Amino acid sequence: MAGGRPPGFVETPQPCRYHIAMRSTPPREPADPSTVIVSRGQISRRVAELAQEIASDCGPQELTVVAILDGALIFLADLVRRLPMPLVLVTVGVRSYRGRAVTAGPLEVHRGIHTDLAGRRVLIVDDIYDTGATLAAVMERVARHGPNSCRTCVLLRKRRDDEPAGPRPDFVGFDIPDVFVVGYGLDYDGRYRNLPDVVALKRSEEGTS
Ligand code: 5GP
Ligand code: MG
Repeated sequence: MAGGRPPGFVETPQPCRYHIAMRSTPPREPADPSTVIVSRGQISRRVAELAQEIASDCGPQELTVVAILDGALIFLADLVRRLPMPLVLVTVGVRSYRGRAVTAGPLEVHRGIHTDLAGRRVLIVDDIYDTGATLAAVMERVARHGPNSCRTCVLLRKRRDDEPAGPRPDFVGFDIPDVFVVGYGLDYDGRYRNLPDVVALKRSEEGTS
């Protein structure tokens, strides 16, 4: 199996949906143009549209945005600056991918919601919707506060064959193929969040080098 691999490659120790082989020091740019799933231009245009959709649906009253970090960080920053209504920002820290994993492990809320959301109009913002488990878990925590309303928004939604675990998001930026993506806030082992495009992490059989 390992025959023919260039020196310096390490493999993810656990079985995973996407067989990743990467350099022990990952390249600064894992992407070539063919792996771009959503470009920075497409993101910028769609974020502006999403903000308009949210504004017309949620109205001019104050909105409390509950952002799921760390992945939503960059999307959040772009989105909230385009929202016209008065706004309160609350963050929640959720983790389901650990280290070099590209399949989800158990969901861990490592920083909960410390603001009272009773009676508020809430918008939950996340980077990507895959099985729906993360959004469902945060929605459940928000619901315990008794908000006036709760909407959900994700930048990306994966096209999957199976039914999602939770309710579908109200606002979706892009439907994308079921591949592991990084960039624009999304990471692999803590890296690549700063890439301006959303790109597919290369599969070893596609010849990572
Ligand atoms: P879900 O709970 O819907 O299955 O997964 C949602 C969470 O898993 C996202 O908030 C994100 O943190 C992570 N996730 C799902 N798919 C990907 C992916 O392709 N790339 C990255 N970097 N994270 C993902
Ligand atoms: Mg996330």
